[in-house]
Amino acid sequence: MPLNEYRKKRDFKVTPEPSGSDNATKKKSSSLIYVVQKHRATQLHYDFRLEWRGTLLSWAVPKGPSLDPAIKRLAMQVEDHPVEYAKFEGVIPANEYGGGTVMIWDKGTWQPESPNVDEALAKGDLKFILHGKKLRGSWVLVRTHGYGSSRGRSSWLLIKHHDAFSSQADITAEKPYSVVSRRLLAGIARDNGGNIAQAATGDPQSPRKTLESSVATATRRRPVRRASKTSMKRAGR
Ligand code: MN
Repeated sequence: MPLNEYRKKRDFKVTPEPSGSDNATKKKSSSLIYVVQKHRATQLHYDFRLEWRGTLLSWAVPKGPSLDPAIKRLAMQVEDHPVEYAKFEGVIPANEYGGGTVMIWDKGTWQPESPNVDEALAKGDLKFILHGKKLRGSWVLVRTHGYGSSRGRSSWLLIKHHDAFSSQADITAEKPYSVVSRRLLAGIARDNGGNIAQAATGDPQSPRKTLESSVATATRRRPVRRASKTSMKRAGR
């Protein structure tokens, strides 16, 4: 059962994540779901998911995708997720598996470019086209050997192919908002009783002002007045 590992890790009485139904594979449309969820857990990462055979194949990409074909991003394959997970944006309680804030960072559909997806996955070389709002065009996931592969987890590289959608734009920095709610992580944490300050560390935060204002916006308060230079000196800072 592909979702056993997913379910074993989670207590659905506590987490708002979907448990997934076993018969969710029948769909009217033949298009395959693609989603990237930005997840401020212990470490910030981007969960890259492709629907295949009724579940979402999933990879955790610590630095997120890059539109630059010269930049290869490490993608650790993780347990398959239920297709319903593609709609999840919210807060996983702090002490639960993956505790933290989840944003739907990009979504759309995907099409295999490799003629046989199962063979491509087994071989560790899956070529595909993304039809997302932020990510488009041709990509490849290539399994690597050695570094990072342990405990049945395999490490892959997510790479953009050269095409009309490749560029040197820093997509994760330039497009930090949810594609479904236009919120930053801090706003999602605020609306779901999460840890706003922790979530905000995953939002654009340089210069420092941006972090403060994202927390301030999220808490719907005026920004905390900065200490004056003289009072800071007095306080010995
Ligand atoms: Mn995750």
